[in-house]
Amino acid sequence: MKVCQSCGFERKSSDKKCPSCGDLYLTLAELIAEEEVNDEKRSFRGRCKRIIYAENSKDAFLLEIELIKTELTKKRVFTIFLIVSFVFALVISVL
Ligand SMILES: [Zn+2]
Repeated sequence: MKVCQSCGFERKSSDKKCPSCGDLYLTLAELIAEEEVNDEKRSFRGRCKRIIYAENSKDAFLLEIELIKTELTKKRVFTIFLIVSFVFALVISVL
């Protein structure tokens, strides 16, 4: 069990703030670890894992699609459009 560095209050690892003194728990190492977790969540592998381990795969899949949609910016849409059109042009030239 971790404790608060300021007041010694026992903390849960999920807490970001001390319930006793209100001190922020996050150290640099914890920030990096949290960032890694977030990266994992956003990564394709993370998404696949969540879909596979979900009780209802179909619902989980639809939820992920919704999440991807909200994360999509115009720049990303443009990049995807470029890739798709490039692949399309390649396929056309081969045929
Ligand atoms: Zn504290």
